[in-house]
Amino acid sequence: MSESARAARHAAVAASLEREGLAALLVSHLPNIRWLTGFTGSAGVLLVGPGGMTLITDFRYASQAPQEVGHAADVIIERVNVPERLRRVIEGMAPERLGIEAHILTVREAERLSAGLKNRILPTSDLVERLRQVKDESEVAAIRAAAALAHEALAAVLPTVVLGDREIDIASRLESALRIRGSEWHPFPTIVASGPRAAMPHARTSTRDIRRGEFLLIDFGAQVDGYCADITRTVALGPADDRQRSVYRIVQEAQLAARQGVHAGMTGREADAIARDQIVARGYGEAFGHSLGHGLGLEVHEGPRLAATADAVLPVGAVVTIEPGIYLPGWGGVRLEDDVWLGADGPVLLSDGRTDLIELDA
Ligand code: ZN
Ligand code: ZN
Repeated sequence: MSESARAARHAAVAASLEREGLAALLVSHLPNIRWLTGFTGSAGVLLVGPGGMTLITDFRYASQAPQEVGHAADVIIERVNVPERLRRVIEGMAPERLGIEAHILTVREAERLSAGLKNRILPTSDLVERLRQVKDESEVAAIRAAAALAHEALAAVLPTVVLGDREIDIASRLESALRIRGSEWHPFPTIVASGPRAAMPHARTSTRDIRRGEFLLIDFGAQVDGYCADITRTVALGPADDRQRSVYRIVQEAQLAARQGVHAGMTGREADAIARDQIVARGYGEAFGHSLGHGLGLEVHEGPRLAATADAVLPVGAVVTIEPGIYLPGWGGVRLEDDVWLGADGPVLLSDGRTDLIELDA
């Protein structure tokens, strides 16, 4: 992250604080801390005021934190009691109205914090998350790189799929292929679901043997510089029959329409409707029971939402998934998922968008 990006992000939070009438914000959500400072540790809290930021973390990050954070924030390494140190720092800053992340802090943590402080503590929600929805060039590049890596890994693994494989064997080879190509981690547990199990949108990969004539649904991610890609492909094991082809085509067409039609300035509900209306018109509305997509960034699920209940407007610069599906209990399911950046001039595909049906010679 460049110094100028960090400065811009801090300035954006400072402007939000002013709008909300807050003197400072206690940031506890680690992806928010990473976005603001570059700190990748697993524990720490960040105080953000109009004049600067202070990161408090523990001994484990004594060398890592200053290295990653640079000039973005003052770093305090607390060896004994981080909550107590935080209280003292807040008292030293004496902000009259201190915002906390009400969606992150537990009730117990908030109580502990307010017990020792005279400051007025005010709940905020998604203050930093809303800013994070808008990606800068380096963030978009990282997601694009993660998607490219994900496609390469899948392309390497698909030809190795043979009858006799269990779902978990395929997941294991795919995860290994992702790591070998440089994925920092799997942003979520890889889903490999075969046959009737593909009818469960969030199936857990099992030890079931894959079988000829079935669909194989693979939903997986990759991570580069902390940024996630999220891809789903559904392939046929052997030649697909007429019903499989017809259901697949409906999902494919709905997904293409949505990823070409989605744009900044529309609501999440309008985006969702692009794909949903098509699937409903073909008689499968009941079989598309989840939302069209979600934002993508340092977290694999973040704002904005693309859903029938999402009234928020999609901002320029957001990266979202487009992932319609049709799930028929007992038979199987099809989902196709690509990642799209909402540029000022329209949607830009970050994943490869290659959704033509693959019939594996398994
Ligand atoms: Zn996914
Ligand atoms: Zn997704």
